[in-house]
Amino acid sequence: MSKINMTTPLVEMDGDEMTRVIWKLIKDILILPYVDLKTEYYDLGLENREKTKDEVTVAAALANKKYGVAVKCATITPNAARVEEYGLTEMWKSPNGTIRAILDGTVFRTPILVKGVVPYIPSWKKPITIARHAYGDIYKNSEMLTEEGDKAELVITGKDGKEKRQLIQKFDGPGIIQGVHNTDRSIKNFAKTCFNFALEKREDLWFAAKDTISKKYDHRFKDIFSEIFEEEGYKEKFAELGIEYFYTLIDDAVARTVRSEGGYIWACKNYDGDVFSDFIATAFGSLAMMTSVLVSPEGVYEYEAAHGTVQRHYYKHLKGEETSTNSVATIFAWSGALRKRGELDRNADLSAFASRLEAATIAAIESGKMTRDLCAVSTLKEKTPLNTEEFLLAVKEGL
Ligand code: NAP
Ligand code: MG
Repeated sequence: MSKINMTTPLVEMDGDEMTRVIWKLIKDILILPYVDLKTEYYDLGLENREKTKDEVTVAAALANKKYGVAVKCATITPNAARVEEYGLTEMWKSPNGTIRAILDGTVFRTPILVKGVVPYIPSWKKPITIARHAYGDIYKNSEMLTEEGDKAELVITGKDGKEKRQLIQKFDGPGIIQGVHNTDRSIKNFAKTCFNFALEKREDLWFAAKDTISKKYDHRFKDIFSEIFEEEGYKEKFAELGIEYFYTLIDDAVARTVRSEGGYIWACKNYDGDVFSDFIATAFGSLAMMTSVLVSPEGVYEYEAAHGTVQRHYYKHLKGEETSTNSVATIFAWSGALRKRGELDRNADLSAFASRLEAATIAAIESGKMTRDLCAVSTLKEKTPLNTEEFLLAVKEGL
C-alpha cells in the first residue's frame, strides 16, 4: 500500500510524561505506516522549555498561526514541586495559557461516546460540547479584604483624568471585595468563534449567562452575541443548515442540559466553562475520553486531549512496570488535526484516514478491547483489559 501524501505540515507539539510515551507509540503504530507524515516539530517537553527559556512555546504558537493546524501533547504546568523535580530556573507559565493568549482562541471540549460507557445522565445520546470563554472575569481579578467602616467604590479614571464612581458597599464589619473585567473585543471574538464552530459541526449553539441579575456585565455578553448573530450573516447561515442559536439564563441551561439528549454546543463565560467542562466530562463517564480543540477567530486550530500528562502512570512506566493508559483522547487529537489538514488542503484521502482511525479506535473498545480505566466503567459483558501498547495494536488491527 502506498502512503497517503500530505502537502502542508502539521505543527506537532510534543509534551511530557506518560502522554509523551503514548505520543511516540501512536505515531509509530497508527500513523507513520499509513501517512507520509509531514510535521514541523516543536518539543514542548518541560526540559526543552527550560533549555529554550520557554521560547519554544511561543515559536510553536506562531507556527500554529502560520500553518493553521497543530496537534499538541499534554504538558506539565510547573508548580513548586516541578521546579525542584526538573531544576527549573523559573516557574514557566502554562503552555496552554501561552498558546491560547497568542491565538486569542476559544477551547471546545467534546466527549467521545462509546457503547458500554454509559453517561450518568441516561438521556444523553450525543456529545455535549462546552465552549469556554477563556479571558477575563475572576481569572484576571483584583480582590481585597475589607474592614469595618470601609467604603468600597468602583472608580473608572478616563483618558482625560475624569473619574466615574459608583458605590459598591459600606462595610459594617469585615468583608471581601473583588473587581473583574472583560472587553468587547474578546467577547466578539468568542461569539464569532462559537458561531463558526456551530456551523462547522452543524449543531445548535446555546449561550447562557445571568443578565437578569448582572444588567450591565452579563447583559453585554448577551447583546454582543445577539448583534453578531443578527448583523454578520450568521442568522441566515444557521437557518440554511436548520440549526439554532439561542440565549438563555445559566440556570435554565443547566436544567435543559440534564433533560436534553445532547448534540449541541454550550458557550459559557469563563467560570461557568471551567465548572461545566468538568461536570460534562465526569457525567459522560471518563476524563480520558474528552477531546479538546483551541480555535482562533481567524480559523486556526490546535487539537489535544483534555487530560494531563498522567504522572502516576509515568512513574510506574519508569520503574519498568506495565501501564494501561488510555490513549483515545490523544488518538482523537491526531485524527482531528489530520482531518482538518485534509479539509484545508482538499486532501480527501487524509480526511478519510482520520475518520477510519477514529472508527477503528471506537470499534476496538466496543468489541471489548480497552484499557483498565474503561474496563472499570464499561457495562459490556466481555471485556479484555489491555496494556498501553496492546490497546494501540488492537486499534491497528481494525485499521
Ligand atoms: P491527569 O494527568 O489528567 O491525571 C489524573 C488522573 O486521571 C490519573 O492519575 C489517572 O487516574 C486519570 N487519567 C487521566 N488521563 C488518563 C488516561 N489517559 N488514561 C488513564 N487514566 C487517566 O492530571 P494530573 O495528574 O492532575 O496532572 C498531571 C500533569 O498534567 C500536571 O503536571 C498538570 O500540569 C498537567 N496537565 C496538563 C494538561 C494539558 O496539557 N492540557 C491538562 C491538565 C493537566 P489513576 O491514577 O487513578 O489511574
Ligand atoms: Mg475546571
